[in-house]
Amino acid sequence: MDPMHIAAFSSILGDGARVLTQPQLVEQLSRDFYWYSPVLRKQLDGKTGDLVVQPLNVAEIQGVLRYCHAHDLPVTVRGAGTGNYGQAVPLHGGVVLDLALMDRVETIEPEGVAVCQPGARLGVVESEARKSGWELRCYPSTIVKASVGGFLGGGSGGIGTVAHGNLRDFQTVRAIEVVTMEAEPRVVKHEGEAVHDILHAWGTNGVITRIWLALTPAVEWSQCAVAFATFDSAYEFSERVATGDHWIKRLVTTFEWPIPSFFTPIKQYAPEGKALVFFMIASTQRTELADAAREAGGEVSYAGHYAGLATRPLLSDYTWNHTTLWAISADEAYTYLQCGFDPVTVREQMKRLRERFGQEILFHMEFMKDGDGQVIPGAIPLVYYTTEERLNEMIGFCREIGVFVANPHVNNVEGGGRYRADNVQLLAKKRYDPKGLMNPGKMITFETDARAGAPVTGAAGK
Ligand code: FAD
Repeated sequence: MDPMHIAAFSSILGDGARVLTQPQLVEQLSRDFYWYSPVLRKQLDGKTGDLVVQPLNVAEIQGVLRYCHAHDLPVTVRGAGTGNYGQAVPLHGGVVLDLALMDRVETIEPEGVAVCQPGARLGVVESEARKSGWELRCYPSTIVKASVGGFLGGGSGGIGTVAHGNLRDFQTVRAIEVVTMEAEPRVVKHEGEAVHDILHAWGTNGVITRIWLALTPAVEWSQCAVAFATFDSAYEFSERVATGDHWIKRLVTTFEWPIPSFFTPIKQYAPEGKALVFFMIASTQRTELADAAREAGGEVSYAGHYAGLATRPLLSDYTWNHTTLWAISADEAYTYLQCGFDPVTVREQMKRLRERFGQEILFHMEFMKDGDGQVIPGAIPLVYYTTEERLNEMIGFCREIGVFVANPHVNNVEGGGRYRADNVQLLAKKRYDPKGLMNPGKMITFETDARAGAPVTGAAGK
């Protein structure tokens, strides 16, 4: 990058040590976990920013954006870089805005709302919340590393979603403060429905600088692993617990064999050849759950108190998209899909997938509550990857038989299945980033509109 720009950023921050130019470091801070996808690996390997800037406060962010706007420099915001779709990988160089130093949990409000800076680690928010009798409603299995800003910018849900829905549901995100990319960057607060303008926009329409996140009363949790002779019986039992109002749960995950064989550190809890179900269940219901599991033909291979994120084993470390990581470690041909099965026809849908693709697809189910309050069989199935054509055939077949797919093998907001049909993320980009400098290339309908010079109205043209 032009030394003039480097000097300018050092002067804006008043501290050259927070402007990183060392190529290896810049490259490292330009990557995320896009390599989960063999398709994205081909597209994104070698893409990097030109330098990294590490602001400490909103005024510094405004200074950086003002300068970038004046000099047409692209800006890619970074939380912890644990995203899976290359969201944080700059496609056109420029500045990586690393918010890791803005990591304060400002307050846990008495009515159960965490107010924090974007770089705050979710694990820290959870620990702080628990001190006042609250806990996160939902969090990704990367809770220890992932930042709140990155979760809002690029994540969706995880542990807790079975009870409280995803991040976008039930007003879990109460408000977001965002800094715009304009000649004079503004600080704007989005509340209520307006949070959806910014949620899951991959940092394409502003920099999130403050978050108000609704919590839920803390529960004493236990963990439980139950093995079943067949996947069908494991599924049956897990569905019953996941959908039963009686059960107080934070996690219900079902794996078919051989997925549990990939979990090397906890092999002793994964009997050979058996399907496995992991639960986080209220401690008051642990014995009752174990009894019900035995009655259903299950074998409780592990049960213990959950004493926070340092607990070992930590079963959530093997769930959600951690499952894929364990599979890739065992055989790097594995990749994944993100699916939503139909709660009524799920068994038929799984049967048809098995008939068509055999062991190329392995079932890893994650039960989740949807925005209407219904618990549905979500899934992050493993896929044994051969070619992109075969992967697309599987995605096409899923959709044909009514299985929803949020495709994790695309590098744009619109293609990933979480883009809103009402276009609010795109409309916010038009307002807040008229030059298209925020994470350019990731909101493809914006570029199309800009090239065509067309006004943004109606559907996104997906
Ligand atoms: P980053 O990767 O740094 O950023 C994500 C996106 O948000 C990028 O586009 C970035 O530009 C943007 N962004 C970051 N900060 C800001 C900001 N302040 N303002 C505006 N935009 C911003 N995800 C889930 O939802 N659930 C899971 O259970 C889950 N499990 C995972 C397991 C593994 C092993 C891995 C590798 C990933 C998993 N993920 C999961 C994906 C990822 O961990 C989460 O989405 C996480 O919340 C991302 O946080 P981050 O701080 O790393 O964000």
